[in-house]
Amino acid sequence: MPGTELFGEEEKKEVMDVLETGVLFRYNHDVQRKGVWKAKEFEAEIAKFTGAKHALAVSSGSCAVSAMLAACGVGYGDEVIVPPFTFVATIEAVLLAGALPVFAEIDETLCLSAAGIKAVCGPKTKAVLLVHMCGAAADIDGILAVCKEKNVMLIEDTAQALGATYKGKHLGLFGKMGSFSFDFFKITTCGEGGVIISNDEALIQSAEYISDHGHSHEGDNRGMEPHHMMGTNFRIGEINAAIGLAQTRKLPKILKAQRKHKAVISERLGRIRGVTFRKQCDDGGDSATFFHLLMPDETKARTCVKLLGEAGIGVAYWYDNMYHYIKQWDHVKDLKMPYRMVAHELGLPQDLKTLAFPKSNAVMCRLISFGIRVTWTEQELNTMLDKMEVAVKKSMEKVLA
Ligand SMILES: *Cc1c(COP(=O)(O)O)cnc(C)c1O
Repeated sequence: MPGTELFGEEEKKEVMDVLETGVLFRYNHDVQRKGVWKAKEFEAEIAKFTGAKHALAVSSGSCAVSAMLAACGVGYGDEVIVPPFTFVATIEAVLLAGALPVFAEIDETLCLSAAGIKAVCGPKTKAVLLVHMCGAAADIDGILAVCKEKNVMLIEDTAQALGATYKGKHLGLFGKMGSFSFDFFKITTCGEGGVIISNDEALIQSAEYISDHGHSHEGDNRGMEPHHMMGTNFRIGEINAAIGLAQTRKLPKILKAQRKHKAVISERLGRIRGVTFRKQCDDGGDSATFFHLLMPDETKARTCVKLLGEAGIGVAYWYDNMYHYIKQWDHVKDLKMPYRMVAHELGLPQDLKTLAFPKSNAVMCRLISFGIRVTWTEQELNTMLDKMEVAVKKSMEKVLA
């Protein structure tokens, strides 16, 4: 949560601009707002930062995924390939669209693999919803080749990877559309918010209609503009956008600090025999929001997590996490909702209760991750690494009773 570490005067100033006018709504009120357009500015800032031609801010990363799927025409009964390791919001968006998730295997990139996608891609597959997990790129070249061969769309849930690039191009620009989240736990925050980027103007236009009941936002006469389609309310508010704007301007500084810390961590932990790191498809493009260790086996990983906990170092062991890995998603496997969805009606293409993920499990059970802080001093980082080194080495030798 680097953005929250640097939260300060800049955010307050942007928010005050909005409070001075009292126009909390992102559209219209051209006179009262006295030139204050925070949502528009936030979009322009994200477009500039990512190199996207168009950006649309919405109220959350989850809404961003829903709006992308809708704009891309993904709906009733369409099969969408998704990863079993993601924040569960990705899967929820597919189901809420009336589409059907099809799970494929991940590999040591922590993202869907090209081979995994190919193995489940069939005649009903409409799209691959690729998640660039934990701040770094999936195997884009390999995955784009499969998408082309199978004639399916690529859509990127880039919620966790703002600031990350692949071969110099920002993630989210390789498929039809890409989305970011600015919830409180992401690299930068709006409090709550999301942004969609795309180089396709028509798709972004569709997403904008969907995000605001079909309003076309022509002129300053809300309610009298033509409507081209229906939608819902995924709008971001001016206050959230103001915070996002200030946070986005801090991204270069955040990325620089994270990457510097990552280099120190890699150097130190790379010396320990038996430990490997997440496979990077473009190491320099990693936003370095997280650091990932791959232990030799599950027992050693669990031992290491325990020893790190005892040493006061908090890490994520995603394999057991309730919200990020399919192993704990009984509510998804049961399609538990208070109403009947398309997925209940049509049935899922895979039997999730018996579906096995041998390749994904083999990675996930060995994976230990921790967030890279921006505000670490050199000494704090080295003290933590000293403790880590002891714990990791010890877990290599000893297996806890
Ligand atoms: C956080 C996240 C989302 C949802 O974003 P919100 O802003 O919390 O709605 C979607 N997908 C992934 C991969 C995420 O990490």
